[in-house]
Amino acid sequence: MLCRFAPSPNGHLHLGHAFSALVNADAARAAGGRFLLRIEDIDIARSRPEFEAGILEDLRWLEILPDETPRRQSRHVRLYAAALARLEAAGLAYPAFESRAEIARAVIARDIAAPWPRDPDGMPLYPFPRTALSDKERARRRSEGAPFVLRLDMDRAVAEVGGDLSWQEAQGDPLGPPASVMATPAAWGDVVLARRDAPASYHLAVVMDDAEQAISHVIRGADLFHATAVHRLLQALLGLSPPIYHHHRLIRGADGRKLSKSAGAPSLSALRAEGLLPGDIRRCLDLPAGGSTSYPASRT
Ligand code: GLU
Repeated sequence: MLCRFAPSPNGHLHLGHAFSALVNADAARAAGGRFLLRIEDIDIARSRPEFEAGILEDLRWLEILPDETPRRQSRHVRLYAAALARLEAAGLAYPAFESRAEIARAVIARDIAAPWPRDPDGMPLYPFPRTALSDKERARRRSEGAPFVLRLDMDRAVAEVGGDLSWQEAQGDPLGPPASVMATPAAWGDVVLARRDAPASYHLAVVMDDAEQAISHVIRGADLFHATAVHRLLQALLGLSPPIYHHHRLIRGADGRKLSKSAGAPSLSALRAEGLLPGDIRRCLDLPAGGSTSYPASRT
């Protein structure tokens, strides 16, 4: 069993991260497997070395240092570029040139007629059809240096894979018996696969990295449950064998919302400075002391 904790080094870790990291590390220990750390620093503009150092410091404090040298996404840009080139060559990805403001305006205009569809995260689907521009025109604009993002042609991608798509979701806890979940990636529309400032989107990089690292169990928050449909589609298109997934419950603040840096969740380093011990963190997260094998039930 091989699992990973994959934080982005763009802020301090909080209790939500601690929960995910501890559940991963405990599962690896319980199964006699390995626990890896992946630094998801593909968003170069927002990633900072001091946050990466902080992640390692927090994991050391929690007594769950990774079993191997961490993998850093920014070192694997060529891997993502090769996957993008394959998708483009197969006609499954295309450059799109609209700015964020143009997209937002188009969604507002469409919303007037009837509510424009949202993705499972509540964001409006990309509102323009690929056929609005010919492939030749897209190639011309690109060669002239117009800014663009690469998008997945969702309809073609789904047609290419054909038939039903599903993933295995471990039930109850990360090592529980897997059950099949139907994947409906079309609910996400033409998702972005790469941007100028991020050579691979989260969706593409996570799929490539999990395959490259031969992760057997992807254990992460329930907020990523629906995104797994996109990941499963990309795996099918790129011929990658899928891991087993487990989406664990989310840690929520007093207001009932998922903890987040932006909403002011206290960092682990602040809790440490207040004198809390790793055992206190486990207790307040309702996790067994010192990595025993039983978990509180997950809710997705
Ligand atoms: N970097 C992602 C995050 O912090 C990782 C998600 C995943 O585990 O797939 O949300």
